[in-house]
Amino acid sequence: MNVLVCDKTEKECIEQMRAAGLTVDTRFEITPEELMTVAPAYDVLVVRSRTKVRQPLIDACPNLKLIVRGGVGLDTIDVEYARSKGIEVRNTPLASSDSVAELTIGYLFMLARSLYKASETMKAEKWEKKAFEGDEIGGKTLGLIGVGNIGKATARRAVALGMKVIAYDPYVQAFEYGQLVSLDDLLAQSDYISLHLPKTKETTNMIGAEQFARMKNGVRIVNCARGGIIDENVLYEALISGKVAGAALDVFAEEPPTDWRLVKLDNVIASPHIGAATKEAQGRVGAEVAEIVIAFARK
Ligand code: NAD
Repeated sequence: MNVLVCDKTEKECIEQMRAAGLTVDTRFEITPEELMTVAPAYDVLVVRSRTKVRQPLIDACPNLKLIVRGGVGLDTIDVEYARSKGIEVRNTPLASSDSVAELTIGYLFMLARSLYKASETMKAEKWEKKAFEGDEIGGKTLGLIGVGNIGKATARRAVALGMKVIAYDPYVQAFEYGQLVSLDDLLAQSDYISLHLPKTKETTNMIGAEQFARMKNGVRIVNCARGGIIDENVLYEALISGKVAGAALDVFAEEPPTDWRLVKLDNVIASPHIGAATKEAQGRVGAEVAEIVIAFARK
């Protein structure tokens, strides 16, 4: 079975697949145009978030049997279309949950204490002690939108830090770390709001002007899920007006952004989609990818 690995993947993963007798080629920098000509020779495509597998590519690959997304979000793959053609689509749902949850918690602290600004002023040789009175996160209400693997991992940590956790997720029946509430109640009650839901047609721009209007003044927002679930233009205005005191963004509607206005605001902390970028998560992703591909080949 021929496997093409289209994005950077742990070398142990590649070695394991080769040791299992598979022919594995790596093209970590492959462009979409090159992929269209190269991919038809393969039975399996391994991708991360960089490589998109859309309908035209699927149509161009008559031998394709399996697409493995190392990571969580399947929004980069035309999953239904692939499955309608008998192609199996798999991801590694649990591998990065703890890493993303840790980044989220780190962001809560950074927002509460303006650590990014404090550090910047120190580097500029300024001692602005009085400018940095922050808040404790203990005792504050954290509203989680989406409580699947990452939402729950974040909730467990937040509760341990003394936060009150509430959650909105229309697809879960039970949540052990706090109360499940309506979206309107979550928006009205939360001091911090953190997103942990997939980007779908239903969730694109689901946090827009109407939702911001319902939030507490001075709310802080973390998005380590997907860009474009929050309407970035509305968020920009809310950060300028002070309705939102601060936002921490790991993901963007366009990556990398072409419009950097939002990122450059003083009350925004940003990172280049690094939620899963830890040695531990990458190791787990690689191991799971190898396991999925090898098991598939042996079926
Ligand atoms: P998951 O599937 O385990 O959980 C997602 C939850 O969202 C589910 O419980 C689902 O019921 C809920 N949900 C779906 N639609 C909803 C809606 N309209 N309103 C509220 N809740 C809704 O996924 P996960 O592993 O917890 O991942 C969550 C998000 O984090 C995804 O968008 C994923 O792509 C993203 N992610 C980001 C990074 C990163 O590097 N920043 C890494 C991994 C995952």
